[in-house]
Amino acid sequence: MMYKEAVARYLGRSHNTNIYPKAILFDMDGVLFDSMPYHADSWHTVMERYGLHLSREEAFLHEGRTGAATINIVYRRQYGRDADPELIKQIYAEKSEEFARHPEPERMPGAWELIRKVKACGLTPVLVTGSGQTTLLERLAHSYPDTFDRAHMVTAFDVKYGKPNPEPYLMGLAKAGVAAYEAMVVENAPIGVQAGVAAGIFTVAVNTGPLDGQVLLDAGANLLFPSMQAFCDQWEQVFQALTE
Ligand code: CA
Repeated sequence: MMYKEAVARYLGRSHNTNIYPKAILFDMDGVLFDSMPYHADSWHTVMERYGLHLSREEAFLHEGRTGAATINIVYRRQYGRDADPELIKQIYAEKSEEFARHPEPERMPGAWELIRKVKACGLTPVLVTGSGQTTLLERLAHSYPDTFDRAHMVTAFDVKYGKPNPEPYLMGLAKAGVAAYEAMVVENAPIGVQAGVAAGIFTVAVNTGPLDGQVLLDAGANLLFPSMQAFCDQWEQVFQALTE
């Protein structure tokens, strides 16, 4: 069965003999919220305001990076150097304002049902996001009640490097008090998948955006689902493959 093979491949590379899942580390945008189209649109609009060219499509490729990292990739491409920190702050503040002008993002279909299932299996949900979007972080408590307390959240405010560096997921493990082989990651972006894999964690990719699913496998995803609903529907089988 393909889930067992995926687990065997993970174990072979990580030199662990088993996975004992105790925590599940969720990315936020594109995993818990159907918010990525609004982010991509906000990035494009505000960057253009500053003469910086980032298409909506490219914004999806940078998904998961910190705001500063995204701005600097484009700035360096055009000017050959990093942007001034004050400019970065200004652009990111305007991008956050622009995002807030969009409708409130809906819960990703299947995400709430999945969270209830993972909790029933005794796993602790942890949030690991590169986002510093305060409106969305506040909304998290309403959309996912009694799920992510502040002690189990890693956001843009906690990290130095951000994804694709393993740092945010290593911090997530530390906050949950578990080792890599006691956790799993749920990600939708190539850079986020890279971060989860680099942290040594079994990483499930859900392709909720416009990219070809192959980019998520190329990034190292252990499993790939076409949606959160599809992952949710298969949860019991995946969990069984992880734990037997
Ligand atoms: Ca994401």
